[in-house]
Amino acid sequence: MKVDVEKLKMIVGEDNVSDNITDLYVYSSDASVHQAMPSVVVRPNTVEEVQRIMRYANNSRIPVIPRGAGSGTSGHTVPIDGGIVLDLKRMNRILEIRPQDMLVRVEPGVVDDDLNRALKPYGLFYPPGPASSRIATIGGEIGANASGVRSVKYGATRDYVLGMKVVLADGRLVTLGSNTRVHSAGYQLERLIVGSEGTLGVVVEATMRIVPIPKFRCLAVANFNKLEEAGKAISDIISSGAQPSMLELMDEIGIKAVNKAMKIGLPEVGAIVLFEADGNVKEAVDYEMEKMKRICEKHNGFGIEMSYDKKERERIYAGRKKLFASLSRYKNGIICTDLADDMGVPNSKIAECAKKIHEIAKRNNVIMAVYGHCGSGVVHTKIMLDPTKNSQWRDAEHVIDELYEYVHSIGGVTSAEHGIGLSKAPPWKKSRNDIIPVMKAIKKALDPNNILNPHKLMDAPDRWVTATNLRYQVKS
Ligand SMILES: Cc1cc2nc3c(=O)[nH]c(=O)nc-3n(C[C@H](O)[C@H](O)[C@H](O)COP(=O)(O)OP(=O)(O)OC[C@H]3O[C@@H](n4cnc5c(N)ncnc54)[C@H](O)[C@@H]3O)c2cc1C
Repeated sequence: MKVDVEKLKMIVGEDNVSDNITDLYVYSSDASVHQAMPSVVVRPNTVEEVQRIMRYANNSRIPVIPRGAGSGTSGHTVPIDGGIVLDLKRMNRILEIRPQDMLVRVEPGVVDDDLNRALKPYGLFYPPGPASSRIATIGGEIGANASGVRSVKYGATRDYVLGMKVVLADGRLVTLGSNTRVHSAGYQLERLIVGSEGTLGVVVEATMRIVPIPKFRCLAVANFNKLEEAGKAISDIISSGAQPSMLELMDEIGIKAVNKAMKIGLPEVGAIVLFEADGNVKEAVDYEMEKMKRICEKHNGFGIEMSYDKKERERIYAGRKKLFASLSRYKNGIICTDLADDMGVPNSKIAECAKKIHEIAKRNNVIMAVYGHCGSGVVHTKIMLDPTKNSQWRDAEHVIDELYEYVHSIGGVTSAEHGIGLSKAPPWKKSRNDIIPVMKAIKKALDPNNILNPHKLMDAPDRWVTATNLRYQVKS
């Protein structure tokens, strides 16, 4: 496969095409453990440019990997077949804010936090944002069906997509969905693109629902000596019918890592639960907070602090916000991998799952933190290991097998919000034999030459450890 770099320069301009080794290296990985070099990076600025690139790539059978910020955790944008990385961050215009219609029309490269900054003067916000909202783009959030700390009340990206414009593999531009809040006119194809990880088309415009910023927000933190008690409190809060706008768990490994990295002096207890309620009537928020506080106390939660004050809420939340980045500092010589990192489990199994993760980690010589948006059933973990040792990657493989076998046995899902990409494909494929042929048929219909993000999701290799490169040097 030889890419015609001069042709691509004619489409997007010389400054927006790069095949220089430094740029290729930067685009060879994302937030996952994988790495592979692209042939070229192309940065389009208009829909027409995307169409022309796709027409060229399709005719020449060159892989195209749509990419936002590259913050995906499972190797979604790692170009394992080489080809064109299509960096969409230049298409970052907010095209229209329509407060009367409660919607916004954006280009795919708009960063989540930038969108929320623009909506704030209207008293509106776009809620599903991931913890990576400072860099994550709307196109990438659609690609992964991202969700975040407030999804327990507000839902995930899929709940906000009304319509979109998509460039198909052959360069055709199609408009999916609508600009209305409901539509019942045929297949909901806009939903098909959500979570498709860049394998079905390139989103070049999205119409998203937005909602009013609530007048009051109250955040609290509760300490627990035992992780299981914290997990039970979360399950009970959800099944009690309380309406948290945030319900997060952090275990003692996470607490210690944050204390070490940020020196913020969190109490080094077994676990903490963060819970928040929001609304326009203070008494209603008080009611929800009191209800959740009582449930935490019932499960031996203590030292409960609560605040409506923005600065104070930021202080309480600071540890959780920096948790992911802090985990690599937990112990010298280890790194924090995004392997098996975002299971979705039934509400009744949260406490059991948290305990199981620690058990599996201990048995397999790795460290695993347990945390996440557990109120919406998202149980995050990170496998922390010494990346220079081959034996540690083997240990990680055992952990992954054991963990997913357990998660699937309790009716959980492989990924709740980060997506499948490369890392999670083997256990996911094993558990979803039924839908793989259907997905392959859809892929074939929309991308017959298999050029859009090939060998991901259902087509990803069965053993990524041997089939793809790691971005770490394994020495022994
Ligand atoms: C510190 C950290 C915290 C995180 N926290 C969360 C969290 O709380 N919740 C969560 O859900 N995720 C989280 N993530 C994962 C990640 O940030 C999200 O999945 C995010 O939505 C990815 O956005 P991105 O712009 O980086 O997309 P990328 O990683 O660039 O792409 C993601 C997928 O979307 C596809 N894609 C990108 N743009 C387009 C487009 N225009 N058209 C078609 N396909 C496209 C790509 O091909 C890829 O398959 C976190 C990651 C990090 C590093």
